Amino acid sequence: MITHSEQLFQQARRLMPGGVNSPVRAWRAMGMSPRFIARAQGPHIIDVDGNVYLDFVGSWGPMIVGHAHPKVLEAVQKAAAAGTSYGAPTPAEVELADLLIDAVSGLEMVRLVNSGTEATMSALRLARAATGRKKIIKFDGGYHGHADTLLVQAGSGVLTQGIPGSPGVPEEIASLTISVAYNDLNAVVQAMEHHAGDIAALIVEPVAGNMGVVLPQPDFLPGLRRLCDQRSIVLIFDEVITGFRVAWGGAQKKFGVTPDLTCLGKVIGGGLPVGAYGGRRDLMEQMAPVGPVYQAGTLSGNPLAMAAGLATLKILAEPGTYEDLEEKGCYFTEQISALAHLMKLPLRINREGSMFTIFFTDCPVNNLVEAQTSDTGRFQQFFQAMLAQGVYLPPSQFEAWFVSLAHSPEDLQKALSAGEKALLDCK
Ligand code: PMP
Repeated sequence: MITHSEQLFQQARRLMPGGVNSPVRAWRAMGMSPRFIARAQGPHIIDVDGNVYLDFVGSWGPMIVGHAHPKVLEAVQKAAAAGTSYGAPTPAEVELADLLIDAVSGLEMVRLVNSGTEATMSALRLARAATGRKKIIKFDGGYHGHADTLLVQAGSGVLTQGIPGSPGVPEEIASLTISVAYNDLNAVVQAMEHHAGDIAALIVEPVAGNMGVVLPQPDFLPGLRRLCDQRSIVLIFDEVITGFRVAWGGAQKKFGVTPDLTCLGKVIGGGLPVGAYGGRRDLMEQMAPVGPVYQAGTLSGNPLAMAAGLATLKILAEPGTYEDLEEKGCYFTEQISALAHLMKLPLRINREGSMFTIFFTDCPVNNLVEAQTSDTGRFQQFFQAMLAQGVYLPPSQFEAWFVSLAHSPEDLQKALSAGEKALLDCK
């Protein structure tokens, strides 16, 4: 019998490309049709057929305090009752900007936007305007949203679907983007020397999340800072995933490296559409209306999004939250690792705090090429076996899993029992 999800998917595919509004949601790489979601609560996500799953996707990162947290709901409801958009400044924007600048060392000024894509796109425009240069450096497997300049050797859905960049991005634009291997400072030096005087910015996920999780090697981020300083290149940290995920204040706090510009999103919107970019005051003051660089947004700083973001960050600011997230991430991955070891299954786990990826490979994963040594067929089997046991994972080998404050020790235990069986299934 056809499920309600399958029925909806058939209808959706007639109405929307692939039946979805963002490609990875179609679960193509998993060889099955997606679940349509009716609601979510705490660590659980519930589909239209009433199946309850333990959720490790967390809306791809934002739901760090769990779904439908009462404090977040209350804040959003209160904001909604006062009107949903004014297109005018509000106190909540000032409060969120103040909080972000206080927490994130690289932020002296900030501009709020509606998505991570908008944040990175605007940060690059600013870097180009400020330097008078055109080219940018990014890393293979780094995903920074779908702006033309950034869809070159990109990760996330682009990687999962095997789309090389994207048609529709003019060659002239793509040729301004140089992509090199993550964690390879020599490659960065070479690119900088080859395009000497032309590089406006270098954009990096300080912990990569879009080729699966890949950690920066100890000298990588300080090295990037040094190389950018030597050539007056604007260093941009894309902390859309890592911001307030790996630490209060983001990866720049954790690794002690301060970029010139920072992009944020996901967690700072508490599940509503938000992005932000900011950084050095002298750079940010080049943005309109103070300076000549244009960027705007009808719904930017939207009152509901501000309310959800502030409520989420206030929960995260409570003592012990990041220790809790670290402990859960650590416990879960260590246990899975031990199980795989007993079964002699090749498995590599990369983790930073509550974000991690389990790679089905025996090769250490420090860049995209190494991530691609993973057995994606085995991941697919694992994914399906987990889903059948009520555990909802990212539908691709090349994505990050997220644990939230709402995942209890019992939840993790349940996922581990499911994991043990799933690993046996795909041996
Ligand atoms: N940067 C990074 C590091 C991301 O992971 C993403 C989205 N996954 C983006 C930018 C784009 O954000 P959005 O999907 O909100 O446009």
